[in-house]
Amino acid sequence: MTSPANKYGPETSLPVQQSYVNGAYLPSKTGETFENRYPGNDEVICEVEVAGQAEIDAAVTAASDAFESWSQSPAAERSEILLSAASILRSRNSELAELESLDTGKPIAETSVVDVITGAEVIEYFAKVIQAIGGRHVDLPPAAFALMRREPLGVCAGIGAWNYPIQIAMWKSGPALACGNTMVFKPAEQTPLTALRLAEIYTEAGLPAGVFNVVQGAAGTGSALVSHPGVAKVTLTGSVETGKIVLEQAARELKKVTLELGGKSPIVVFDDADFDNALNAALVGNFYSSGQVCSNGTRVFVHAPIYEEFVTQLAQRTQAIRVGDPFDPATQMGPLVSREHYEKVLGYMELARKSGARHLCGGDAISEGDLARGYYVTPAVFANCQDDMEFVKDEVFGPLMSVLPFESEEEAILRANDTPFGLAAAVFTTRLDRAHRVANALRAGIVWINAYNVTPPEVPFGGFKESGLGRENGLEAIESYTQIKTIYTNLGGVEKTY
Ligand code: NAD
Repeated sequence: MTSPANKYGPETSLPVQQSYVNGAYLPSKTGETFENRYPGNDEVICEVEVAGQAEIDAAVTAASDAFESWSQSPAAERSEILLSAASILRSRNSELAELESLDTGKPIAETSVVDVITGAEVIEYFAKVIQAIGGRHVDLPPAAFALMRREPLGVCAGIGAWNYPIQIAMWKSGPALACGNTMVFKPAEQTPLTALRLAEIYTEAGLPAGVFNVVQGAAGTGSALVSHPGVAKVTLTGSVETGKIVLEQAARELKKVTLELGGKSPIVVFDDADFDNALNAALVGNFYSSGQVCSNGTRVFVHAPIYEEFVTQLAQRTQAIRVGDPFDPATQMGPLVSREHYEKVLGYMELARKSGARHLCGGDAISEGDLARGYYVTPAVFANCQDDMEFVKDEVFGPLMSVLPFESEEEAILRANDTPFGLAAAVFTTRLDRAHRVANALRAGIVWINAYNVTPPEVPFGGFKESGLGRENGLEAIESYTQIKTIYTNLGGVEKTY
C-alpha cells in the first residue's frame, strides 16, 4: 500500500466538472448541472454539467473518426500506450484512491489497494495478450481456403455503476481499446470524477484524441448514448432493471451487448470446512465496500453442526468492524454511496428486523457525532433467515448478511440455486469430491472453492441467469469486443450453373 497523498479530503470542493471529448474538456450546451456529494458528510463536492444530445453526438463522432486509424494501428502500438497509461495510473494510485474515496465514501484502506490497482492489472493484461491474438486459416481443398479475421466492432458505449467507478471504466476500456475499438464512457451520476482522470491519463500516455471519451449524466444521457446510431456495442455495469431496459433499447438496432448486473450470491459452508477461512470469507464477502459489491455472498448457508458457533463468531467479528471516516487509514467501513441508497438500505434493515429472523447485530443509522451527517449504517447480521424473506431474496447492496442453516449437501445446492440471480457462489469444504460436486452444481458465472471475491484479470467474470450477459476479463472478453470476418478465397474456377 502506498502512503496517502493527501491531495483530496473530506473538505475538498472542486470546480464544475464537464464531459471529456476528443482529448479535451467539452462545456455542455444543455445549461443543466447536477450535484456530486461526499457521502461522508453530505456536502457538495462539485457541480457536474449534464451531457445532452449535442455532447453525445460530439463524443460519438470523435470516437467514430478516431476508430479509422486506431483500429488500423499495430497491436504493439496500442499495447505500448495502454501499458504507459497503466504505469501512470499506478504511479498516481494514492491521489486517485483519495479521489475515489471522496466520490464513493469507500475507505482509503480499500481504494488505495484495490480500485486503481485492479483496474491497471486489467489494462496490462489486455495490453499484453492483444499481440498474441490472431485469426485462423482453414484449408478447403482442392482449390480454396478461408481466413477468419478478428476485427474490432467500432464505437463502444461503456456505462458504469457507482461502486467501483474507476475500476469499471478500466475493465471496459482496457479490452475495448486493446482490440482496436474506441469508447464513449458514461460514469454513474453519483461518481463522475475518476473516469475523467482516467481520460486525462490516457491522453497523457499518448492515446489519440477521440479514442476514449467521457460523457456525464444520469439515465437520460445513458439512454441517448445506447440508442445513438453511431454506437456498435453497449457494455453496462448496473442493476438488473437497467440491464433489461438497455438490452431492449440496443435490440432495436441489434447492437452487441454485455451486461454485468446484480446478484444475491450464496456462500455454502460445510462442517468439514476450515472454520476461520469460511468466517473470514463470509465477512469480507458481505461487508467490503459497505456491502456494495455485485458479487457479494449475502446468503450464507451454514451446515447445522457448526451453525451456532459460526453465527456467534460472525456477530462478534462484525461488531468489531471499525465504521468511520473514509480518510482515516484505520477505518474499515465507510458510508453508503448516496442518501437515496442509504434510505433504501435502511428500509431493508427495517424489513429484516420485522421478518422474524434473529437479529444478531447492526443495521443502525449512525445518528450521533460527526458521522451523523454522512450516510453511515452499521454492518448487520441476521440469523435463522428463511429463503423467502424479502431481504434474503432481493439484492440489498448494503451491509446486510443473512445466515441460513442447512442439513444436507443436496438441500444446500437446491436452496443456493433458488434465485433469479447467478453472478457468483462459493463453497467451503476440505473435501475435494464435495468441493467440485457442489461447484459444478451451483448455477453461477464464477464459483470459488475456499475463497471469495477473487477476480484476477486472467479469468472471465459475469453472470448466469438475470445477473448478466457475456463476460468481462479473460480471453473471453476479446470475443465480446471483436467480430469474426470470414474471407473465402477461391483458387479455382467458378462453375457455369446457367
Ligand atoms: P443502475 O442500474 O441504477 O445504474 C447503472 C448505470 O446505468 C448508471 O451509470 C446509470 O446512470 C445508468 N443508467 C440508468 N438507467 C439507464 C438507462 N435507461 N439507459 C442507459 N443507462 C442507464 O445501477 P447502480 O445503482 O449504479 O449500481 C448498482 C448495481 O450495479 C447493483 O445492482 C450491482 O449489483 C450492479 N453491479 C454489477 C457489477 C457486475 O460486475 N456484475 C459490478 C458492480 C455493480
